[in-house]
Amino acid sequence: MNKERKLIIAGNWKMNKTVAEALDLVRGLKLELANIKEVDMVVCPPFTALSEVSKAILDSSLRLGAQNMNENNVGAYTGEIAAVMLKEFSVRYVILGHSERRQYQKESDELISKKAAAVHGASLKPIICVGETLAEREGGQTNTILQKQVNGSLAGLSKEQMAETVVAYEPVWAIGTGKTATTAQAQEAHAFIRGLIGKMFDETVARRVRIQYGGSVKPSNARELMSQPDVDGALVGGASLEARSFADIIKNSI
Ligand code: PEP
Repeated sequence: MNKERKLIIAGNWKMNKTVAEALDLVRGLKLELANIKEVDMVVCPPFTALSEVSKAILDSSLRLGAQNMNENNVGAYTGEIAAVMLKEFSVRYVILGHSERRQYQKESDELISKKAAAVHGASLKPIICVGETLAEREGGQTNTILQKQVNGSLAGLSKEQMAETVVAYEPVWAIGTGKTATTAQAQEAHAFIRGLIGKMFDETVARRVRIQYGGSVKPSNARELMSQPDVDGALVGGASLEARSFADIIKNSI
């Protein structure tokens, strides 16, 4: 597939996989994806598996991501993880503002923007999630919500930082539900988000930013979604927990 930007496909393992299970999955992915260079491929295990997965992917093209990070560099923040700790395991990407964290941990756009600054401060790349709920879509609020989340979560980044930021459009109603946005819905939202980034930063930055789609991506719908001009990859939950399905999403996207 001829794309303007290199695709980035990331697996968000969420609170799944013991260390042994994580290593099993990575072994399978390495076999399935040995020769793939066309796509940036990222796995995001839970914190407890980062160390072992980091070692296991050293001889592969897989890159490591974390699922969250604290906005402070060090200190009395019980249960939290700082950038420097992620860097010890060669983490390259950090997912921020996933809808589950927005919902369960009440993360705000303001907090996400602070975390994004800390991620860039450590020379890591954030994957910043935005997306509307079903009620918001049905109420005709999709663009208003996306605008609020994009403006708030990306506030304060420099143009250079923005160009290295990945945005994930994840309609909440499509996450883990088996319902995928239609290609038209995905393309429309992605183009809208790119337009917002153009206004906040500039057109050159907007053209460089990669925008992933997330929400029930599967091997069967990956090709069509990735064929949309403003869809530059995928953030995959459920289907990233098995080597075959995650690998097939990647292969079908090329
Ligand atoms: C996600 O949680 O980021 C996600 C996209 O999940 P799923 O692929 O399972 O819908």
